[in-house]
Amino acid sequence: MNKLLIVGTVAFDAIETPFGKTDKILGGAATYIGLSASFFNLQSAIVSVVGDDFPQEHLDLLTSKNIDISGIEIVKEGKTFFWSGLYHNDLNSRDTLVTELNVLADFQPKVPQNYKDADVVMLGNLHPLVQSSVLDQMEKKPKLVVLDTMNFWMDCALPELLDVIKRVDVITINDEEARQLSGEYSLVKAAAKIQDMGPKYVVIKKGEHGALLFHNREVFFAPALPLEDVFDPTGAGDTFAGGFSGFIAQSENISFNNMKNAIIYGSNLASFCVEKFGTERMESLSKAEVAIRLQQFKSLTQFDIEI
Ligand code: AMP
Repeated sequence: MNKLLIVGTVAFDAIETPFGKTDKILGGAATYIGLSASFFNLQSAIVSVVGDDFPQEHLDLLTSKNIDISGIEIVKEGKTFFWSGLYHNDLNSRDTLVTELNVLADFQPKVPQNYKDADVVMLGNLHPLVQSSVLDQMEKKPKLVVLDTMNFWMDCALPELLDVIKRVDVITINDEEARQLSGEYSLVKAAAKIQDMGPKYVVIKKGEHGALLFHNREVFFAPALPLEDVFDPTGAGDTFAGGFSGFIAQSENISFNNMKNAIIYGSNLASFCVEKFGTERMESLSKAEVAIRLQQFKSLTQFDIEI
C-alpha cells in the first residue's frame, strides 16, 4: 500500500458563523487532511504536536480512521495550538480572531522511521520551517510533495515560506493568498509567478466558486457543488488538500490529467466538510456517500456539444 505523510496543525478551534458558535472543538489542518485522506486505500501518518490538554478521544478518533499518530508529539504541560475564526454572511470570507501557537512555537518535527520513504508528502498548514524540516528528514525522494499554506505565514515568515515553496511540486492556496504571494491581481498571472517560485502545479482554491489547476500554460477548473446547507467552511481547504493528495497517493499517477481527477476528489470531500460544524460531518461520512456525490459532480459538469 502506498504511503502518505501528512504534516500540519492538530488543534483546538473556536468558530463563529452566521448559523452558530462553537467552543474549543477539534480542528487543525492535519486533522482535516487526515480525515479526508482516510477515504483512500493507503497508509497515512500525521506529524504534529499537541499539549497534554488535548483529549485522548480526539487522538483515538484519528487512530480509528487508520491514521498512524506516532508522529504526533504530546508536550507535557504544554498548550495545544488554538485558532479562532469569525465568518461573514457570505461564508466565503472570514476574520482570524486568535492564533495562539503555543506548543507549535518551538516544535521540532520527527518523521516516523517507516514514513521516511513515503510516496506522497502533504505539507499542511503550519510554520514553513517545520515543513522544510520534514522534507530534510525524508530518506527517499517522494514522488510528489504538495504544500498548503496561508496568509498568516506570508505575514510572519515569508523568507522561510519562499524557501520551502522552492522545494515542492504542487502548491494549494486560496485566491486571496495567491494574490498576496505573487503581488498580481489576475489569478492567471499569479499562478505563472508562483510557478516561477518552484511548484510546477498551482492549485488556486476559490471557496464556493471552485478550484483552478495551473500547469505551464494549461488550466483546468473544477466547480464546487452547489449545496443546500453550508454551516461552517472551516477545514474545507485542508479537506480539499487531503482529498487531492490522498487520491494521488492511492493512484500513483502524477500526470496533469490525473491531477484533474484529484481536484474533483478534493472538491467532493470538501463539499461534505462544510455541511456541519468542525470535523463532525467528516467523522460520520461513508464511502457510499462519497461515491454518490462524485456522480453528481460528473453530471454537474458534463455536457455534449459539437464543435
Ligand atoms: P481552512 O479552513 O482549510 O483554511 O483551515 C482551517 C484550519 O486551519 C483550522 O482547523 C485551524 O486550526 C487551522 N489553522 C488556522 N490558522 C493556522 C495557521 N496559522 N497555521 C496552521 N494551521 C492553522
